[in-house]
Amino acid sequence: MNNGSITRATINLSALKHNQLVLQQQAPNSQILAVIKANAYGHGMVRVAQTLSGIYAFGVARLNEALALRAAGISKPIVLLEGFFHADDLKILVEHNLQTVVHSQQQLDAILASDLNSCLQVWLKLDTGMHRIGFHEAEFDDAYQALKASKNVSKPIHLMTHFNCADELDNNITAEQNRRFKTHIKSDSGLVSSANSAATLAWPQTHADIIRPGIALYGVSPFIDKVAEDFNLQPVMTLKSQLISVRSHQAGESVGYGAGWTATNNTKLGVVAVGYGDGYPRMAPEGTPVLVNGRLVPIVGRVSMDMLTVDLGEHCREQVGDEVILWGKGLPAAQVAKHIGTIAYELVTKLTARVALDYVQ
Ligand SMILES: *Cc1c(COP(=O)(O)O)cnc(C)c1O
Repeated sequence: MNNGSITRATINLSALKHNQLVLQQQAPNSQILAVIKANAYGHGMVRVAQTLSGIYAFGVARLNEALALRAAGISKPIVLLEGFFHADDLKILVEHNLQTVVHSQQQLDAILASDLNSCLQVWLKLDTGMHRIGFHEAEFDDAYQALKASKNVSKPIHLMTHFNCADELDNNITAEQNRRFKTHIKSDSGLVSSANSAATLAWPQTHADIIRPGIALYGVSPFIDKVAEDFNLQPVMTLKSQLISVRSHQAGESVGYGAGWTATNNTKLGVVAVGYGDGYPRMAPEGTPVLVNGRLVPIVGRVSMDMLTVDLGEHCREQVGDEVILWGKGLPAAQVAKHIGTIAYELVTKLTARVALDYVQ
């Protein structure tokens, strides 16, 4: 589909299904809660939800994400991973059959005080060390008992936690947090869930009943020093643009705003039609790679709103119109992210509306 957009992200739905299978094989005794918050990390939430079959539930972070899924006809369980933010939302949760994480005393009080006309499925969250949201260990059992006694709450109650260091392969804190989490499982509790992508791939003892992968489903490595291929994961998103100019450039000439880079040799510069207006980070330093005709070439000069410049070399054969891959097939997003000093999660999630998404099977 050509909607006039030169910068496009191909979303490979077969790769998505492949990654689901890889994760399922990693955790053969667990079911999958597919995390599709933030527009499925930029991949298109509804399309991703429609493509993933045979999973247990979807996870989102905002009520409006859950409602958009219901409006699109998605009938699978949906879990609000941070729960609800206002007591008024509880009626909407019940009306649309949405499940909620309960991580705070405020949420607990709101549930106990509400008058719902059917029961709410809750996931009680334990703080095992992230120290962001979740009940402290000392408060957890009381919260569990209070929910159990509430007529507003479906039984059994599901339990969850979230790890802060699961992407650190040699940091045993994850195993310790997992051990502590397990001591809080009750004889009458329901499903148990703790593993994000990194824990699913690296910490099999955390798999429990439900794994909660996000980034790995999209074929991106959650680890700073490993790429998706190391786990047989395939990139779902490939961000592409084109060369809109190829010009000769003399030694001693600078390029771009601020004249921050100056050529030491005569060369040719390519201009790629992508910039921070598309979600390509302005912070990408000189040397960040892009892929042109199968070879990696470095960004030079500053990324601007609509364009960036690359050093193609004096004897290059590139022409205007040649395809440029910013990340995805042939250039892992994690590798690009490392150059920029961010994580691949941010790259894929921050594409702007100007980038067209093309779905391929
Ligand atoms: C976002 C999120 C996940 C998924 O994390 P990934 O690192 O993308 O796999 C899992 N659980 C919770 C609670 C989350 O908020």
